[in-house]
Amino acid sequence: MKTEAGGRWGRGGPGTLGVAARPRDLLVVGGGPAGLELAALAAESGHRVSLWEADGRLGGQLATVASAPSFERYGDYIGWQERRLSRLGVEVRLNERADVASVLDHDPDVVAVATGARPHRPLLPGFDLPHVVDAAEVVAGSVVVGKSVAIIARDDHLPPLTVADMLSGRGHQVTLIYGAPTPGQSLGRYIAGGILARLHRRGVEFRQLEEVRSITPQSLEVRNVYSFASDRLTGFESVVLACGADSDDALFQELRGRVPELHVLGDAFAPRRLSHVTRQAYALAEALVD
Ligand SMILES: Cc1cc2nc3c(=O)[nH]c(=O)nc-3n(C[C@H](O)[C@H](O)[C@H](O)COP(=O)(O)OP(=O)(O)OC[C@H]3O[C@@H](n4cnc5c(N)ncnc54)[C@H](O)[C@@H]3O)c2cc1C
Repeated sequence: MKTEAGGRWGRGGPGTLGVAARPRDLLVVGGGPAGLELAALAAESGHRVSLWEADGRLGGQLATVASAPSFERYGDYIGWQERRLSRLGVEVRLNERADVASVLDHDPDVVAVATGARPHRPLLPGFDLPHVVDAAEVVAGSVVVGKSVAIIARDDHLPPLTVADMLSGRGHQVTLIYGAPTPGQSLGRYIAGGILARLHRRGVEFRQLEEVRSITPQSLEVRNVYSFASDRLTGFESVVLACGADSDDALFQELRGRVPELHVLGDAFAPRRLSHVTRQAYALAEALVD
């Protein structure tokens, strides 16, 4: 196991950061991967840690992803973090949505806001129609989609492919529409290869270098990103947006100047990936040791 800093282990040896010089009361808001990792590392270095999660379960977006095909192991990871927090005596409150009043009332020395991100909805005509849904909703099973589905892919990582994998595996006819020249541009080829092979075998259609300009109940208007030549695609019962995410840092903004020490981390800082958010948690936990 290596850390982001290329083997820059903490003072206490591999996997630990040493003992905090000033053990403090830390409130972590948000029980996604960022909040879970920070809470555990901070408790391991001797801080008194509370973690509040608005949902009835821990894991944040990762708990949703864990219900997608081949991502079940994320569920094991969340379970491991839960056991780790319990062993460390972190006070975990589920169904506890933090707001300014409740945070001030709790009176912590340090607040770390890890409230995550929400799916991004482009401000274009028709993107708010009822048959247009978010990839995370589809993966979570909270929406029903029709037989024929267009996925608008404005994300260079796994989410568009994950939702295409899930839907095509259930027999939906799927078309992926990418503005990029290739799908999953930031994925390593060994990660992308398996999923692309499955999608190809199931007849998923890939349209590349096309951006969707507007949606109507019957059609999608697309145009080539270079020539701007337009086309109209029809026959989709549902449209799924896999267009990245917007940080939810409202609580962080509201708390500025109102608590002794305040931090923001994870997707609430900038929507990225699991490895980024856990590394940021590590860096913050390390800073809190001094
Ligand atoms: C469909 C999909 C597929 C993905 N696939 C991958 C992948 O394959 N690999 C990868 O690395 N990443 C993937 N990601 C991204 C990854 O899940 C996120 O980067 C990661 O979960 C961000 O962690 P976080 O803790 O910052 O935020 P989140 O996971 O968003 O967690 C934030 C938590 O804060 C809680 N919260 C919000 N407001 C409050 C409040 N006021 N009080 C208390 N709690 C609050 C929320 O309920 C939530 O549980 C995917 C995301 C999606 C949507």
